[in-house]
Amino acid sequence: MDRRGERFCNEEVYGAALGHAMCETREGHAWLILDARLVKLALRECLRGKLWAFQSVPAMLLMLAGRKRAGSLADLAARIGSDPAVLERTINAYNLGALNGIDRAFGKSAAMLQPLMYGPYYAIDISSDSRVFPCPSITLGGLRVDETSNAVLSAQGRPIEGLFAAGRAACGLASNHYVSGLSLADCIWSGRQAGRAAAGVVLANAAHSLTETD
Ligand SMILES: Cc1cc2nc3c(=O)[nH]c(=O)nc-3n(C[C@H](O)[C@H](O)[C@H](O)COP(=O)(O)OP(=O)(O)OC[C@H]3O[C@@H](n4cnc5c(N)ncnc54)[C@H](O)[C@@H]3O)c2cc1C
Repeated sequence: MDRRGERFCNEEVYGAALGHAMCETREGHAWLILDARLVKLALRECLRGKLWAFQSVPAMLLMLAGRKRAGSLADLAARIGSDPAVLERTINAYNLGALNGIDRAFGKSAAMLQPLMYGPYYAIDISSDSRVFPCPSITLGGLRVDETSNAVLSAQGRPIEGLFAAGRAACGLASNHYVSGLSLADCIWSGRQAGRAAAGVVLANAAHSLTETD
């Protein structure tokens, strides 16, 4: 939820979609609210070894070290600086939906709707500037390049001699919004293209200097 204590997104969406909503609509700030039962379930899931380390390690770090804890929702709201009335209203509405298996506000699936009813309650800072979460964001977009050679373009739109960019240092398919898989694929494709173009320049220069020495 956002700084005021209101939900703004279906919490089960892919991380990049959540990050997009948080950064585009909530200035990069959000809290994840859990209750004692959900923390226990989540820790058990992390320890079962079925998640990648880059998923389970930050999750455990956040749940054990990067959290604010309070016995009631009103106290939790005070600890995170949100409005207690708004937070309680939000959680009550969410719980009502969770108990009925329907999330009218954001369409979260019934399987993921877990009511938050058993204190103590926890708030985890998932903001883009969180110091505990080690990888909340990745680079998207980059320098403007020529699409056939990946040569970096100047402000005037002309290729800068000898300068090539690839991967997330260059603009590409994943420039505007992250889509899993697309980023690495685009890096490989643009890296090969930039490498081939750069090698072409080296070969042309070598051929040129050979003809000059002949
Ligand atoms: C946790 C996580 C999960 C991800 N999962 C996926 C996924 O499932 N699918 C997908 O498509 N994408 C995924 N991504 C995104 C993808 O990994 C990146 O978009 C991609 O690796 C970017 O590649 P790159 O070559 O542009 O940059 P990088 O891989 O970041 O490479 C840049 C390199 O430059 C080096 N470097 C930096 N500064 C200097 C310097 N001054 N001198 C010399 N070297 C320097 C760095 O050490 C690094 O090795 C994930 C990213 C993260 C963080």
